[in-house]
Amino acid sequence: MIAEEFKQMLGQKSVIRELSEYAAERAKQVGYENVFDYSLGNPSVSVPRAFTDKLIELASSEDSMAVHGYSPSLGITSVREKVAASLSERFGLNYKKEHIFMTSGAAGALAHALRAVVTAGDEVITFAPFFPEYTPYVHGLGAVLKVVPPDTETMQINFEAFEKMFSSKVAAVLINTPNNPSGAVYSTETIKKLAAFLSEKEKEYGHDIYLISDEPYREIVFEHVDAPYTAQYYTHTITCYSFSKSLSLPGERIGYVAVNPDCPDAALIITMCGQISRGIGHNCPPSLIQLAVAQVLDMTADLSVYETNMNILYDGLTKLGFSCVKPGGTFYIFPKALEDDAVAFCKHALKYDLILVPADSFGCPGYFRMAYCIPTEKVERSLTAFEKLAKDYQ
Ligand code: PLP
Repeated sequence: MIAEEFKQMLGQKSVIRELSEYAAERAKQVGYENVFDYSLGNPSVSVPRAFTDKLIELASSEDSMAVHGYSPSLGITSVREKVAASLSERFGLNYKKEHIFMTSGAAGALAHALRAVVTAGDEVITFAPFFPEYTPYVHGLGAVLKVVPPDTETMQINFEAFEKMFSSKVAAVLINTPNNPSGAVYSTETIKKLAAFLSEKEKEYGHDIYLISDEPYREIVFEHVDAPYTAQYYTHTITCYSFSKSLSLPGERIGYVAVNPDCPDAALIITMCGQISRGIGHNCPPSLIQLAVAQVLDMTADLSVYETNMNILYDGLTKLGFSCVKPGGTFYIFPKALEDDAVAFCKHALKYDLILVPADSFGCPGYFRMAYCIPTEKVERSLTAFEKLAKDYQ
């Protein structure tokens, strides 16, 4: 017998991956420079030199077991201490190593955070547009994912719909800010309103409701954008972080879970994560990478090109008649398609070698996502292709 559940998933291949494979094939035919591949959120800037230097220094260490040996199940103690100190300094909460669990990226962090506070049959609520991988993350533990429809005027939370969908079965609310795919950053007003609502519901239902804040894009926030740190506003916050985008290290699979130190069960949740790892067999990110990121915690890659690309696209696309909410961060922009069916629209865009992702799988039909982590000169040239595309709809 083979596992039917995963066999079924083969039929639901990621649209993003399929488009990215198409783009690579197409580039072989017409040349890389002629394909405007906005499909994949793979960082386009180099890792900081300081990270590479630390990595080389560590890898050259005499004590090879210190860098290549098994990591403790919660992560290397000194690394957890450094992460806690850095978070405390930045955000004013009193994090200690007891509140930090090292993971394989944000995906690993989410897998642990969800399992720590959600059990089969519980409900998890998230907000469209949302990262499509949330569906397998939540379904994988036998829980129900409820998706609140988007507020497309602002790309903030649609509180009216959210409040109606909320029930006593909700164990966790899953947010992602700065957001993939919309690029929106939840404002302080949004986070405060969410925190107040959840606190009220905790009292009403007499049980904890966790807020899982998925923050792999925390460091990619544009000028003058209000970007609150969620945990400052709600005690039962579990932050899931990743160095994939901040240091351009998605292939190294490194991130962490940080539980708000004021949460009474913070230390318990972290030790539970060590046990959860045993069950999912996905534990201890590489020791070498843990040690290297701990040396550059307050550093990022040069992320400025993302804002440059965003401004070019936002100005260019809105001039061409596209409507979209100006992104406050990430490297995504999320315009409305020029026809109701975004799948048909994105198919049509292939005629001009524009690789755009229809947002149906993000829970926001009629929109499309562009990952603009590509060279700026290509972003600029792509506007001519967009002009041709827009003309087809006049
Ligand atoms: N959450 C969101 C919203 C993402 O966009 C991604 C990756 O693109 C992840 C989680 C997973 O991140 P990681 O690569 O660090 O596992």
